[in-house]
Amino acid sequence: MCVSPTRLLPCVPLLLALASPSGAADCLGHPEALGTSRTIVVDPTEHGRIGTMDYTVTLPLADKEVVLTFDDGPLPPHTGKILDILAAHCVRATYFIVGQMARAYPELVRRAHAEGHTIGTHSMHHPLPFRTQVPQRAETEIAGGIAATAAALGPGGSVAPFFRFPGLNRTTLVEAHLGARGLMAWSADIASDDWRDITPDEVVRRTLQRLEAKGKGIVLLHDIQARTVRALPKLLAELKTRGYRVVHVQAASEGRPKTATVPEQWRLQTRMKPMKVADGGTPGRASKRLAQVPVQDGSADRDLWWHLGLRMRRLD
Ligand SMILES: [Zn+2]
Repeated sequence: MCVSPTRLLPCVPLLLALASPSGAADCLGHPEALGTSRTIVVDPTEHGRIGTMDYTVTLPLADKEVVLTFDDGPLPPHTGKILDILAAHCVRATYFIVGQMARAYPELVRRAHAEGHTIGTHSMHHPLPFRTQVPQRAETEIAGGIAATAAALGPGGSVAPFFRFPGLNRTTLVEAHLGARGLMAWSADIASDDWRDITPDEVVRRTLQRLEAKGKGIVLLHDIQARTVRALPKLLAELKTRGYRVVHVQAASEGRPKTATVPEQWRLQTRMKPMKVADGGTPGRASKRLAQVPVQDGSADRDLWWHLGLRMRRLD
């Protein structure tokens, strides 16, 4: 296990990359599958914040490489269906688990882990706006989410030291806390808008349009949405047709060396001409504007969680 509820166990940075575990050629019974082209291993103590929707750097991806991420679950039946789709395509993703969801559906967390996906966390209760939580509450939420996810996985599980702010509601104070714990803050590069009231085809269209604009990046999806289940097969097929490759991400640890990179690889070189950024703007927010169509903000995720909250209360 790389993260415990109370402290990050040591992760040992080394120099070599891992080989691809499940390329399309290895996807038995699914010769047309997209597959996972390679795995990269990152060291959160060297790169603590990634994703150009909020930061100036992102994962060290080559052109046409994408990382798929799923937030807010697990939630049946959608999470299981999405795992089925990913398995059929031999695609490995990164999950940002909500602690109370892990408590409710631990078997789905174990299944995602057993099928090779990376398991990060997304707080215990997904309180929003997360940026207005007092620091002690925010820290409790972070630790609680990790603890609940680790408990769901059991002793054989491994929680990655990857954290995504609920609603991408980051603060510098909480970022400092994450850094002190050896946790990597994951924003994203490509919003899918799958939490909005749009059709699955529109989810695919927006995601591909934004991906084409940036050329590569971390895609933000949610495995609690029926429209995501319907959109995902088409999205994966389109990625394959357009020559995109899926990259799986893991955290460096003892026995798992980090992938060797140079700093330039962590900076997104967009295909679009940069827009002028107003004083006080950040490069991350500027990247957001490059998407051409509206992208996620905290209020959108707040709406999503409000609906999910209704379901959770019915479960209580
Ligand atoms: Zn969320």
